[in-house]
Amino acid sequence: MIIMHDEKYLKRLFQAYYKEKISDLSLVDLFEHREFGFIPWEKQIMLRHIGFNSALNLRNHFIRNTPKHAYVSASLYNQPENQDMQGKGYQGCDLIFDIDVDHFYTPCKEDHDIWYCNECEENGRGMVNKCPKCGKLKLKRLTWICNDCLDIAKNEIIKLIYTFLIPDFNMDIKKMKITFSGHRGYHLKTEDEKLRALSSEERREIVDYVTGENISFEILGLQEKGGNIFGFSKETIGWSRKIIEKIKEILKKPNLEIESVLTDRRKYNLSQNLVENFLNFKDNFLNIIESNNINNWTLVGFSLMAWNKFLRRLVTEIGIEVDIPVTIDTHRLIRYPGSLHGSTGFKVQEIFHDDIDVFKPLDESNEILDPIVFKSEKIINQKIEIIEPLVPLTKIKGESWGPYKQGEKIVVPHHIAVFLLCKGVAKTI
Ligand SMILES: [Zn+2]
Ligand SMILES: [Zn+2]
Repeated sequence: MIIMHDEKYLKRLFQAYYKEKISDLSLVDLFEHREFGFIPWEKQIMLRHIGFNSALNLRNHFIRNTPKHAYVSASLYNQPENQDMQGKGYQGCDLIFDIDVDHFYTPCKEDHDIWYCNECEENGRGMVNKCPKCGKLKLKRLTWICNDCLDIAKNEIIKLIYTFLIPDFNMDIKKMKITFSGHRGYHLKTEDEKLRALSSEERREIVDYVTGENISFEILGLQEKGGNIFGFSKETIGWSRKIIEKIKEILKKPNLEIESVLTDRRKYNLSQNLVENFLNFKDNFLNIIESNNINNWTLVGFSLMAWNKFLRRLVTEIGIEVDIPVTIDTHRLIRYPGSLHGSTGFKVQEIFHDDIDVFKPLDESNEILDPIVFKSEKIINQKIEIIEPLVPLTKIKGESWGPYKQGEKIVVPHHIAVFLLCKGVAKTI
């Protein structure tokens, strides 16, 4: 929790930032037709149904009101400020995808995500749904960021664009906008008139497709006939191609690596026996899937059910970890690009698609793309005190800070202090 006088301090910092950089604050396409929402520093509520009729008013709002969090609708309305959803006059909604490590497992969470159970006082690290000791669902969590999970999220966005949206949906890269959320993820927004007309159900179908949920291997051609298993019939399009490519990728690894991937409990979880059969069949199988006229996938020990299970795991590996409701719900507000994220002090950073490969949110060398806006040219150190039981290690700009324990008084550079204060794990002293 952020201490009240630190809230005032952070708000002043944000305000000074907006004053200085206001001409850089991007204007979202057709902003006059969008609904804005803001969470102020003083209370945890979203002030919604706000509209702006000029860039000046919009920008002045950031300077005068200086929100802790700023959001804008993906939808377009005739009257975005109308309090009543029906009265807004919905005109369509950009297609958005949200990829946030809050919603899926990454190994680094075992190091940097901490949970406490208020019920039985158990605590630990990693991503758990409930207290492993007493079963309580409501846990206090301290979630953190590192290069690893942010890289995983970034790669999901890249995969989404280049292995799904462009090849399978023929979407136009020039109409896509990628944004680093300022905390644990990325947003992708496509501003295309045709896509704006998609209904919620149609968006759900796109999501189903990119996650691979509900995929039927039978429809792709997998079948058992006369004791043999036959693989996919059309191997050059859509999911069939993606799965085949993934199988090839595995088959081309050295045996030891294949073994470790296939027995990995978090991935394929195959028994040692099945893996041995798989390895014996390896060269044959590679020939079969690389040829166009045979698709006999018969493999000792692999029943139709075992194939289904294995393919299902492949789909999980290939599919994209999107936050499903964000794409389906056409009345969602998403973070305003160029605004500051009140839980980190980082900028919600737009990234050109040419730059996404090399973009590093926590260590970006290109000033224009750097979300860490509170780093000072001169070294300004700040003294703060840790107020959470444990604070994980933070690595920003190539330097590591922490881990810290409650009560520790530390001297850190300005941008680290802002981050720890925004995260609510420290107070100024
Ligand atoms: Zn418990
Ligand atoms: Zn991480």
